[in-house]
Amino acid sequence: MTDAMHAVLIVEDDQAIQKILTLLFEAAGFRVIVAETAARGELDARLYKPDVIVVDLGLPDRDGIMVIAAIRAWSAVPIIVLTARTAESQRLSAFDQGADDYVVKPFNGPELVARARATLRRHVRGSLPMGILNLGDVSIDLGKRIAHHRDGHEVHFTPIEHRILETLARYGDRIVTHAVIIKEVWGPNRADARSLRVYIASLRRKLESDPCRPQHILTELGVGYRLVMDGNRQ
Ligand code: CA
Repeated sequence: MTDAMHAVLIVEDDQAIQKILTLLFEAAGFRVIVAETAARGELDARLYKPDVIVVDLGLPDRDGIMVIAAIRAWSAVPIIVLTARTAESQRLSAFDQGADDYVVKPFNGPELVARARATLRRHVRGSLPMGILNLGDVSIDLGKRIAHHRDGHEVHFTPIEHRILETLARYGDRIVTHAVIIKEVWGPNRADARSLRVYIASLRRKLESDPCRPQHILTELGVGYRLVMDGNRQ
């Protein structure tokens, strides 16, 4: 046993899935706590302070989205949504309430555990300090707002483009919804998703070796964007 045995809280009312998840996470070295209702889940989150939480959205007493919102009010613990709901609006509200990842049933067990580990690692590593952001051949000094290509020439970003990069970087490699980016870059009601798309396209032309197949600013369809950074272990 290592000193880093992590606890996972599973908020799920389906007993078959409870069993599968318990086996999977125990095999991966986690301590497992199972809650069958939203109320129990919120309570257990406070009681056991798990390192990661898996939340089903269809719970008997309350919507799982409410569980996410309630836990987010006091904790930054990584939360993964596990649900049969695939509607875009559902994914959006889960992310808006602070979910870190979203897995659709039927799910692939090892992949779910891998995602739990990934959210844990990101959480432990913490948010990116306002330092150097490396995206492919371009290195961006977020504090000074200066960027250079590997070959030495300066890459010019507009102030809005810098703010978009800062916002995405602050979330590490988590998904950031359109609404969050727009609010943080322009303030409320100042821009729409379409103008955001124009800026993202411009950023990709400057950053990506193939802007049509972006490797660094990824689109999460209908939800938002996610940054894939190099050397973010520094
Ligand atoms: Ca359910």
